[in-house]
Amino acid sequence: MEKLVIIGAGIAGLTAAIYAARANLSPLVISGKDEGGQLMLTTDVENYPGFPEGIMGPVLVTKCKEQAKRFGARFMDGNVESFSVKNDVKNNFYEIVVDGEKVESLTVIIATGASAKMLGLESELRYFNRGVHTCATCDGPLYGGKDVVVVGGGDSACEESLFLSKVTNFVTIVHRRDEFRASKIMQERALSNPKIKVIWNSEVVEVLGEDRRVTGVRIKSVNDGKVTDLKASAMFLAIGHIPNSAAFNGILDLDENGYIKADSRMRTKLPGVFVAGDVYDKVYRQAVTAAGMGCQAALEAERYLEGISK
Ligand code: NAP
Repeated sequence: MEKLVIIGAGIAGLTAAIYAARANLSPLVISGKDEGGQLMLTTDVENYPGFPEGIMGPVLVTKCKEQAKRFGARFMDGNVESFSVKNDVKNNFYEIVVDGEKVESLTVIIATGASAKMLGLESELRYFNRGVHTCATCDGPLYGGKDVVVVGGGDSACEESLFLSKVTNFVTIVHRRDEFRASKIMQERALSNPKIKVIWNSEVVEVLGEDRRVTGVRIKSVNDGKVTDLKASAMFLAIGHIPNSAAFNGILDLDENGYIKADSRMRTKLPGVFVAGDVYDKVYRQAVTAAGMGCQAALEAERYLEGISK
């Protein structure tokens, strides 16, 4: 029986692993197919404290993994197929099936992250991370003085556009309908910003590029099918995220968008099961906040284990 299993090896799971390993819990970290999480998809991380020159996302993740290993965290590759609650005489424990192999644990931290939704275009994948991005705060500052496109019409699209308006030359939002889904205040801010314009009722049908860089996007009107090319150095997708919570549906409480519900101490409704990072957080979604939640979850797991051992 494991004391603590951490599901997910992004910045939230790895920070939980560092804390738990230093508390001698010898955590087992299960890294799924997207080991390292969304930081693996970004380049320069310039807003993680302690790195005045910035740090590459994958380097940050690798260093966190080394740090966790140094204190005794163990790693197991594989995808979680199922998660279930078991009972012994005293306490709940949990069974996690990873690629057919059963792992039992007294506590679990779920840090499976979220995946940004994509449009589904071949060209979007070709230029991914070379002009096509999913996080404006992470990658926007790479386009200082350039024109960029944001796709989407929700709070994220407005928020990312407002951020990009400060760090780039000009922002064009492309939205598929004639009105935003975003909250009134976010809409007003975006619509009144002189550095942001909106192309309504339109979809991006192709990302245009030369060699390894993006030069623009091809847009199609949903009203009359008219196709136009728009020059831009980058496209930021803000069409929503999908929390990676499917394995926990029906066992834990999820909100209407699939995010796992927990209290402010990262405790889910099941004793000994905690969450951290983007599978819980739909508001901040930052590396530093995910790391903070990983720390909280590990401290809570340690406290819980102390409680049940008495
Ligand atoms: P969202 O509210 O689901 O909005 C996604 C937007 O992308 C919608 O406008 C949608 O268009 C569009 N979209 C979806 N799939 C598309 C596709 N395949 N092609 C083109 N457009 C597509 O997602 P979100 O903006 O990430 O927000 C998620 C949640 O987090 C919301 O509850 C939001 O309020 C919250 N949030 C809050 C803040 C804040 O308060 N500061 C900031 C960010 C997010 P349609 O409108 O036509 O469906």
